[in-house]
Amino acid sequence: MHAERRPFIGGNWKMNTDLASGVELADAVLAALAEGRVEDAVDAAVYPPFPYLFTVGRTLGHSNVLLGAQDCSGEAAGAFTGQVSAGMLCDVGCRSVIIGHSERRHGLGEHDDLLHAKLQIALESGLVAVLCVGETLAERDAGRAESVVAHQLRGCFGTLTEETAERVVIAYEPVWAIGTGRTASPADAQAMHAHIRRVLADLYHSRFAARTRIIYGGSVNAKNARAIFDGPDVDGGLIGGASLQAGDFASICRAAAEAWSAAGGH
Ligand code: PEP
Repeated sequence: MHAERRPFIGGNWKMNTDLASGVELADAVLAALAEGRVEDAVDAAVYPPFPYLFTVGRTLGHSNVLLGAQDCSGEAAGAFTGQVSAGMLCDVGCRSVIIGHSERRHGLGEHDDLLHAKLQIALESGLVAVLCVGETLAERDAGRAESVVAHQLRGCFGTLTEETAERVVIAYEPVWAIGTGRTASPADAQAMHAHIRRVLADLYHSRFAARTRIIYGGSVNAKNARAIFDGPDVDGGLIGGASLQAGDFASICRAAAEAWSAAGGH
């Protein structure tokens, strides 16, 4: 953590919960965060499945927990069957969206040019866009992790102006660590986050890089979170499995708040 960047913790619920258990989970998250008094020290967000967004948003009410979606279209409106626009997300109360999750890049073949369109429209709609990048195990083993991530960042940002890119959060999610129980070591995560910051400095400038939050995702849990968050370039986490347990999600938020406080933040 770094004192100047407020931690960001996102809970990616993926294709889990039903309507009733989603509402229960949102309620439990609010209660657990209030109990740990961490809401003030962390930007927390939850990303329920599309059909539950409106109802979960009502449960979150006026709390500080952001409502987010797991994807949006790269188009604004029109004949795009099955897609959901950034404007529609705003309409149902979303304030954030995940773009380019590896389960979409690798499972659905989403490429950087499409992700650039999604990122642009999400940011222009006023959403906090969590842009996911990360290498596969084969790419890491071949010594290509840094170049793959740099290439993804350049492709996704493309021609975005600094002003438009202001509300981006980068999620470094090594594909081999997502849902596998394997995490990058705190040292490997920190090294990649520092690399991402250098790429952002190159794309824009060092001030932009210094204020952009870069979060880690990949089997983060209540036990390993603090060690990862102690990296000076690690500004929080994108949490999959552990975000489905309100107590674990709140513990991870607390770990971020403590790491931030130890770094001189808050
Ligand atoms: C994710 O879905 O972004 C993720 C990091 O999942 P998990 O925490 O389950 O590895």
